[in-house]
Amino acid sequence: MLHILVINAGSSSLKYQFFNMDNREVLAKGICERIGAGGHMRHSVAGKVVLEKDTDMPDHSVAVENVLAALTDADYGVISDMSMVDAVGHRVLHGGQKFSGSMVVNDAVLAAIEECIPLGPLHNPANLMGIRACQKVMPGVPQVAVFETAFHQTMPEQSYLYAIPYEYYEKYGIRKYGFHGTSHRYVSARCAELYGKPAEELKIITCHLGNGSSVAAVKGGKCFDTSMGLTPLDGLVMGTRCGSIDPAVVGFISEQTGASASDVVTMLNKESGLLAVSGISGDYRDVSAADEAGNHRAHIAREMLFQSIKRYIGGYAAEMGGVDALVFTAGIGENNDYLRQRVADGLEFMGISVDPAKNAGRGEDREISAEGARVRTFVISTDEELMIAMDTEELTSK
Ligand code: AMP
Repeated sequence: MLHILVINAGSSSLKYQFFNMDNREVLAKGICERIGAGGHMRHSVAGKVVLEKDTDMPDHSVAVENVLAALTDADYGVISDMSMVDAVGHRVLHGGQKFSGSMVVNDAVLAAIEECIPLGPLHNPANLMGIRACQKVMPGVPQVAVFETAFHQTMPEQSYLYAIPYEYYEKYGIRKYGFHGTSHRYVSARCAELYGKPAEELKIITCHLGNGSSVAAVKGGKCFDTSMGLTPLDGLVMGTRCGSIDPAVVGFISEQTGASASDVVTMLNKESGLLAVSGISGDYRDVSAADEAGNHRAHIAREMLFQSIKRYIGGYAAEMGGVDALVFTAGIGENNDYLRQRVADGLEFMGISVDPAKNAGRGEDREISAEGARVRTFVISTDEELMIAMDTEELTSK
């Protein structure tokens, strides 16, 4: 039996899932929080919380020790010994231009992740802490890094370059990288499976709609374009991010208010999007409830979101010279039939049409297109952790 631990390390948190890869079942999962400032841990087995405790976790290594102790606990453990952890897969935010696929961690990979810190200043250092903690606590167990940017490395130059002086690209690596790559890769592959054709023969538009949202144009199984950019701020209207706006807004606000450019960018990341337009919340459910109760700004916030998604669907179909399939995924995309219907409404001219009965509610991965629609539309549950576990299995079994 092959067991893989998947780790998503943040600066003060560490989320994990533990897989039996024989049947891809999640045997246990949980989260360590407030690392370095106290410590709290919640651990579930078979969907049930079996452990919740405050416990001192001064650093990520102690968090990993706690995870292993929970996995091997005499009462609720799922393995008898930590030597049964065969490999560890880590979510890493930014691989810059260095990584177009997942990598077994070695010193060169660690150095390259470190070099990408300027591109992912909040996440890459935390991801590195997670990897180093596992190396320390589980020496000899192979570690794999799975990059959120890797899938998008196939974009052609016309998609990823910005039309600014070339030296900024050469000197500072300023270009579009894209994010949510693991999710776009997983759902586009799953879409091809449901479609019944090899991904190489399909043009797919994947809409990852969650707190952070992005759209990808996947042509022949490879990313052709995506809506997030140098950072996750670009593209769609999101929970608290503005998405694409005139870049001159930054300088203008800075001049008007005296705020620094970086303060303005923080505002665009944390105080904008649905939150700013609605004045209520960055959570789509709250905005929906307010819209349904008649709140005008919440209504406009949702309309802006729907319109921004349509804009990318139309744009990417045009860029790819057509589209065979459209995919909705992540928190909003998987769960909100109203959004899916509203995005599809009016796109009949390009062959997109959803069947209200098939679209209704939540549930299994499924096709929701109306009979005879030229573009087939799917709802697919993303599973980034499984994708990381699958990459880890593939790379470590070689
Ligand atoms: P994620 O980042 O993928 O976890 O998605 C979070 C977003 O999904 C939030 O804006 C939630 O409001 C939204 N969401 C989660 N569950 C639902 C649901 N049942 N209906 C509508 N939106 C949902």
